[in-house]
Amino acid sequence: MSNPRRVALVTGANQGIGLEVCRQLRAHGYDVILTSRDEKAGRAAAKDAGVEYLRLDVTSEADIKHVAEALHRDKRKLDVLVNNAGISMDGFNHHVVKTTVGINFHGALAVTEGLLPVIADGASIVFVSSGMGELHPYSPAIRSRFADTKLTRDKLLALVDEFIEGVRTNRHTHEGWPSSAYRVSKAAMVALAKVLARDLSARNIRVNAVCPGWVRTRMGGRSAPRSLEQGAKSVVWAATVAGPVTGGFYRDGKAANW
Ligand code: NAP
Repeated sequence: MSNPRRVALVTGANQGIGLEVCRQLRAHGYDVILTSRDEKAGRAAAKDAGVEYLRLDVTSEADIKHVAEALHRDKRKLDVLVNNAGISMDGFNHHVVKTTVGINFHGALAVTEGLLPVIADGASIVFVSSGMGELHPYSPAIRSRFADTKLTRDKLLALVDEFIEGVRTNRHTHEGWPSSAYRVSKAAMVALAKVLARDLSARNIRVNAVCPGWVRTRMGGRSAPRSLEQGAKSVVWAATVAGPVTGGFYRDGKAANW
């Protein structure tokens, strides 16, 4: 009997890096499920790329549950999950912080935890972070809390909550945080990959964070030096790499500064 086809799911994939990741994973032989919050745009992109489609707003518990149930009903498990959905908003205030961290970090965590029952042992989970996720803009105390090898999911959530509360009370700079919701959301994604890599090691699930580089997309803008193909390749490397590669932060298949 031949092996069942490997299945990959990508979030925020109606355009940009996510869509190109879907195309490249398909070329690697995966059955790809493209997901998006905008159903019309997602279905059109999936049709064009020759892949399946499911609606998934990463901030919607109902959508996450629906995707998990659909996979369970079809007796399918994910071999690859790419948490790609992300936003970068103009300005800096409590609303911007809650929205940005809510999608980039809390959304990726909720999707990963909600889909865990339908993620196969030995699977690969990728968090699309950024060079903006580096820890140099933080106080040494916050830096060491992010990088603590004993950090837990709950401690990480509490750390991120401290940032959000610090912005609400206008104390975040004094407490050692940068004035960038995007930076904090992406640093937290790297920390999350490291926490989950430890938590899921018994199931041989590899969890890594990647930086795609600065890529020409709606978010990256037209003057970015990298093509979609180059950016997506950096992500697909982590999704498909063989061997015990887990708990790392990579760009183009090489360890990235954190
Ligand atoms: P993009 O073209 O703006 O695409 C972002 C995607 O995320 C869009 O499909 C967007 O959907 C989706 N999204 C936003 N909120 C969502 C939600 N709540 N649920 C589901 N999907 C949601 O940007 P991109 O450059 O391809 O970015 C992809 C990832 O790479 C992001 O995580 C970004 O932070 C990261 N990244 C990008 C660069 C770069 O230079 N481009 C560099 C480093 C990291 P809509 O179309 O509905 O808005």
